[in-house]
Amino acid sequence: MSSQKESTVVLTGEPTVGDVLKFKEEERRGVRVTPPRKIWYGSSPERCQLCGCSLLEEKIFYDAKSLVGPWAIMCLNCFNDKGLGVGTGLGQVYEREKESGEWVKVAG
Ligand SMILES: [Zn+2]
Repeated sequence: MSSQKESTVVLTGEPTVGDVLKFKEEERRGVRVTPPRKIWYGSSPERCQLCGCSLLEEKIFYDAKSLVGPWAIMCLNCFNDKGLGVGTGLGQVYEREKESGEWVKVAG
C-alpha cells in the first residue's frame, strides 16, 4: 500500500485555464478536488427586488427570472410565488456561507 498524502484543492471564483489544468493534474495524481466555488461578485444584495423585504438576515436568495418580467434578486417567498425555476437561463440560488459571509452559488 502506498501512503499517498491526501490534500484538498480549493479554488475560489471562476477557474482559469491554469486552474483547470492544475485540477486535471491533481485529479490524475489522485488528490481529492473540491469543485470551485461560485461566489456572488456584486454588492451584497440588501433587499428583495420584488417585495422589498430585507435579505440581510436571510441565508439564501435567488437571482432568477420571474413571472413579472426580467431577472430579479428575490427572497425565497417571492421565488416560490413568482420564480420560474432554477437552472441555466432560469435562475440561481445563493447561500450565505457562515464563516466568510460570502454568497456562494448552491444551485442553478
Ligand atoms: Zn421578496
